[in-house]
Amino acid sequence: MFDNKDKTEINELGEFGLIAHLTKTVELTEPSTVKGIGDDAAVLDFSDKKTLISTDLLLEGIHFDLRYVPLKHLGYKAVQVNLSDIYAMNGKASQITFSIGLSSKFPLEAVEEIYEGALIACKKYNVDLIGGDTSASAQGLVISVTSIGYAEAAKIAYRSGAKEGDLLCVSGDLGGAYVGLQLLEREKQIFLENPQIQPDLEGKDYIVERQLKPEARKDVVELFEIYGIQPHAMIDVSDGLASEILHICNASKVGCKLYEDKIPIDPMTYDTAREFGLDPTVCALNGGEDYELLFTVPQEQYDKVKNQLDITIIGYITEEAAGCEMISKSGNVHPIKAQGWNAFKGADR
Ligand code: ADP
Ligand code: MG
Repeated sequence: MFDNKDKTEINELGEFGLIAHLTKTVELTEPSTVKGIGDDAAVLDFSDKKTLISTDLLLEGIHFDLRYVPLKHLGYKAVQVNLSDIYAMNGKASQITFSIGLSSKFPLEAVEEIYEGALIACKKYNVDLIGGDTSASAQGLVISVTSIGYAEAAKIAYRSGAKEGDLLCVSGDLGGAYVGLQLLEREKQIFLENPQIQPDLEGKDYIVERQLKPEARKDVVELFEIYGIQPHAMIDVSDGLASEILHICNASKVGCKLYEDKIPIDPMTYDTAREFGLDPTVCALNGGEDYELLFTVPQEQYDKVKNQLDITIIGYITEEAAGCEMISKSGNVHPIKAQGWNAFKGADR
């Protein structure tokens, strides 16, 4: 994706020079940040709130493929997927640390792009970059992001809080990131076989963006606050709807009924899945990387959630003994299984 001629070698700057260079535009805006970059540790103050912390490790070749992921998008996505975990607790994200391991193939300009993307995400989501670590790596690019946030103790939504009779709800739509990945993989193969052919992603912006540039659902957590919605249980959809439903049901010791015809799938996701000979429902259930929020609310809150345009009620919570089941469009009942169609998942995910 980048050629190294006329590029700056990182060694020319040294580690401290590199950190100073990458973080020179960092501004702190969060009241809870007492001290950011520049000392041995950052200092935060959440006074009477509980602190939320989550970390992700992203490895080149395992979690991303630089043959089709632009570096700026990678920096952006690395931050988004991590913030998503804080929102999934019904919290506010306030800080991140961003750590990178770089092999010698990366010039300064490549790292600048990664940071540009990361800092755009921080700014857009009002999150302070308060530190990180920088190291050489023997092979490939390594990124680790830790996000920090806070919430009132009573508002934290654990996976374990779902109760029998709760409505099962999801934000946005599902399956798009997975179908977008299929499209990018196909174009990569065509390119590898014939570099003369330009990628044909025209008209597919939505699903390509769902894969390359996901948006964590900060807005949904804000909407809960505005409308006084308190989810009993919540999780973000990173590994596919089926897997996340099972996480909530197992942690909460409950069962559920999921209605296939209620699963929100964007028309572009639907049509493109069909073009690939894939079942759109399977893409939503097992695809992953949608970073939507899956949550349960007590039935009394039905009126509050039913009119939210970007929230869909997809089922309800039952007693544990009833199991976790999906009612198909034709009315058949199937047990929900995580990644039952594993064979069709991308090899590098
Ligand atoms: P130490 O030797 O104590 O680990 P470093 O020299 O690694 O200190 O880091 C100095 C400061 O720069 C710290 O505040 C650290 O959090 C910050 N820092 C280091 N690497 C990064 C990075 N990749 N992004 C943001 N801040 C960083
Ligand atoms: Mg360090």
